[in-house]
Amino acid sequence: MAFDIDMIKKVYAQISERVDKAREITGKPLTLSEKILYSHLWEGNPTKAFQRGKDYVDFAPDRIACQDATAQMALLQFMQAGKKTVAVPTTVHCDHLIQAKQGAALDLKRANETSNEVFDFLESVSNKYGIGFWRPGAGIIHQVVLENYAFPGGMMIGTDSHTVNAGGLGMVAIGVGGADAVDVMAGMAWELKFPKLIGVKLTGELNGWTASKDVILKVAGILTVKGGTGAIVEYFGPGAKNLSCTGKGTICNMGAEIGATTSTFGYDDAMERFLRATDRSDIADEANKIRAYLTGDDEVYANPEQYFDQVIEIDLSTLRPHLNGPFTPDLATPVGELGEKAKKNDWPIKVDWGLIGSCTNSSYEDLSRAASIAQQAVDKNLKPKSDFGINPGSEQIRFTAERDGLLDVFEKLGATIFTNACGPCIGQWDRSDRKGDEKNTIVHSFNRNFSKRADGNPNTHAFVGSPEMVAAIAISGRLDFDPMNDTLLNEDGQEVKLDIPVGLELPPKGFEVDDNGYLAPKEDGSSVEVKVAKDSERLQLLEPFVPIKDSELQGVKLLIKAFGKCTTDHISMAGPWLRYRGHLDNIANNTLIGAVNAFNKKTNFVKNQLTGEYGGVPNVQREYKAKGIKTIVVGDHNYGEGSSREHAAMQPRFLGVAAVLVKSFARIHETNLKKQGMLGLTFANEADYDLIQEDDTFNFVDIADFSENKPLTLEIVHKDGNKDTIKVNHTYNDAQIKWYREGSALNLIKKQDA
Ligand code: SF4
Repeated sequence: MAFDIDMIKKVYAQISERVDKAREITGKPLTLSEKILYSHLWEGNPTKAFQRGKDYVDFAPDRIACQDATAQMALLQFMQAGKKTVAVPTTVHCDHLIQAKQGAALDLKRANETSNEVFDFLESVSNKYGIGFWRPGAGIIHQVVLENYAFPGGMMIGTDSHTVNAGGLGMVAIGVGGADAVDVMAGMAWELKFPKLIGVKLTGELNGWTASKDVILKVAGILTVKGGTGAIVEYFGPGAKNLSCTGKGTICNMGAEIGATTSTFGYDDAMERFLRATDRSDIADEANKIRAYLTGDDEVYANPEQYFDQVIEIDLSTLRPHLNGPFTPDLATPVGELGEKAKKNDWPIKVDWGLIGSCTNSSYEDLSRAASIAQQAVDKNLKPKSDFGINPGSEQIRFTAERDGLLDVFEKLGATIFTNACGPCIGQWDRSDRKGDEKNTIVHSFNRNFSKRADGNPNTHAFVGSPEMVAAIAISGRLDFDPMNDTLLNEDGQEVKLDIPVGLELPPKGFEVDDNGYLAPKEDGSSVEVKVAKDSERLQLLEPFVPIKDSELQGVKLLIKAFGKCTTDHISMAGPWLRYRGHLDNIANNTLIGAVNAFNKKTNFVKNQLTGEYGGVPNVQREYKAKGIKTIVVGDHNYGEGSSREHAAMQPRFLGVAAVLVKSFARIHETNLKKQGMLGLTFANEADYDLIQEDDTFNFVDIADFSENKPLTLEIVHKDGNKDTIKVNHTYNDAQIKWYREGSALNLIKKQDA
């Protein structure tokens, strides 16, 4: 069901061969990250050494995982490729669309009612194209992946930023946009800038109240939310071997919070134990045969400064438990110092909720350590002062934790056990105790704590900690509680102290599950009908984009000249629009509504050159589209930065924008424009941005000669009849020009397969 051991054997054969070759070519010992990268080259055996942070390299990942929110557009696009099945093992996980409110049973029922068309679509499309489908309630994507699919030395991509969680089992696992996932599903290579490497040497051993979570809370404090950008963080050293596999997962998971490409750990006994406990002894046996290839070379770890771009050292024995926040995960404060800091900053001391779980911290070890604190509250007659909510990471974890009485302990404290899903971690939380925007504090064991993330309230101060610390803080109801030194008053009026948490790495009676929620796809899905209702508001089958004719690039109108920052959020807003992620026509109604018009400094207020009137960007654009007039968007520096959201390219394309001309692009967005068959261009002379006027018309005079390494010429016709002729650059190679000529990359794939 879950994994294909023959595929893993093939990967392991590749690793041993290609790592030796890579060592020879680079002339140095290798980190684990390099071993995985060099053994997953699209071209096969390594033939050259890549420069970190510079070279763009094509890779061949082993797996893909998609969550329900991002999978919709990814799979709609994949359907365009005309393939019978996905080229690489893929799974879809229904976890983001389930709102936490009354508890698992009722919440799941409601989600199945409100989002059934999305779930039905995902299930049918998975069944048709050979994709494994995990039903709503089966669990959170990253926990399910760790328990079923992750394997040491593997490479995977996923349409979610916390895909990196699988580094806990020795993978290079990277969060990508839907367009990248679609390429790999369709049998194409996946491109990544060869990452820089940050080494984190761990010494000592965790003890007392300190947990794996505190390692990454500390690292986040050191590196900040941007410190890992463009880099893989590789953990090593004796301390790493002392951490459980799921603890490593927690650390890798929150690597996303420091902007890291991913994080990983070398294969060790803890990983072997986890593989065997999750019914994957055959993988452990295979991994044991090539153990040395599944971790960094000894020489690298002995002299890390020579081989990593940056090295950090943390002694686990002296590491203190932390709570990070509010509003940013890198604001790290050791527990015990938080009270003073909170008073100084006027953060509410009273804690309203303690939330445990999410993909970050819902392992058996996490739940058992937190339950050991909850049990003490029961035994010592302490009544929790905050509400408790628990989100188990998977049905397997939930079933096992229930069997072993761990959930029962929380329920004795009045906890609500939410669905095995994201819930409050992604704002899917109908929080009954708060209405409006009152200032309040919550603590949770999740990963992100940005403003509004959990409950939509900008005044909710969310602090991130380990599950056991969250349990202790929730029992005390105070942010300034330090369980290592402070006492609590119980219901009998006695002062009691919480003992240090204890837990079990793995369930002594093994994992158990009745129905794990997995649906295997049909062997032959050709007869499966993909379910999309014609009148659906949330889903719409895609039509292939029609290639832009050269003749259409004469008389192009200016849609908007964007001023300043224009991120993917400005181009395709999130929030309430998330609902329409699978319906291109409907979500297109948010196109560029966040971009600032350079001529009036207003958002969503542009001139319609046909009428002379002003209107919203999507409305004006739809009027041009109705008349068959192509348009151009002009922008500033780093246009399209932010996320890899493909909607930011698909929507303008769908509405009839032919070209985006900017001072510079965020690279992923530029590639997305190319994939959708549009022109992504940059000013050869940045100052030409100032030439663009509100009523301009554009003629692409030499578009018929569009070719690699050759700038294009653009004639700008102003309202007064004056003209400017400028050069515009592009980075299209021959293959990408073919995407443009065919209307999109997917059109080309389909044509080549025909
Ligand atoms: Fe993302 Fe939170 Fe869900 Fe994890 S639990 S996948 S971080 S939303």
